[in-house]
Amino acid sequence: MDLHTHTRFSDGIGDIRDNIAEAERKGLRIVGISDHIHFFTPHVLNSYLSLINQAKKDSETIVLAGMEANILPEGVDITDDLRKRLDYVIASVHMYFNPGSHHKYLELVKTAIQDENVDIIGHFGNVFSYIGHPSIKDYKEIIDLAEEYGKGFEISTRYRVPELDFIKFCIKRGVKLVFGSDAHQPKDVGNINWGLKAFKRAGGKKEDLIFSELL
Ligand SMILES: [Zn+2]
Ligand SMILES: [Zn+2]
Repeated sequence: MDLHTHTRFSDGIGDIRDNIAEAERKGLRIVGISDHIHFFTPHVLNSYLSLINQAKKDSETIVLAGMEANILPEGVDITDDLRKRLDYVIASVHMYFNPGSHHKYLELVKTAIQDENVDIIGHFGNVFSYIGHPSIKDYKEIIDLAEEYGKGFEISTRYRVPELDFIKFCIKRGVKLVFGSDAHQPKDVGNINWGLKAFKRAGGKKEDLIFSELL
């Protein structure tokens, strides 16, 4: 599966059908379209969803309607109404942080985990090499919360995160995972090799994945 792909509806360069065609070519079982939320007006949203819904009928690969929301200091920028029209929502931190401020990043992630409109935390820790790595205790707090609220994490091949120990913790605690390429061009859809390897090395099995019932 690849649940993190972008199209022309945000900052990608392909059409929805191009991403799906690539997913079919690579033999993916599930592909999700997850464009950035802040690109959408109500009108554009309608055409996005109608194209995805049409593709659901036409495609051999299971197609899911997602979106990538932003985790901001004031909360995650997704509304209840929008969430109801989607199959899943990824929430990611896209803000800049100064070195040494990883606790601020973790606080944002904690608010997103507690947001009922969020299903998956995107590319968790992709900035840790700049802002500093959390401790094991910090990771445990995040995973406790994710377990309590039933949230999952993306294993991002683009950023090669989360780190292996974090993935292992997730599996041990029953916190679910998904694979994402974060493709911004169709040819990158389904590029989840790093993620698959990390997942297997961490001892992951099918039932450790979100949407495993569709696999
Ligand atoms: Zn992102
Ligand atoms: Zn993305």
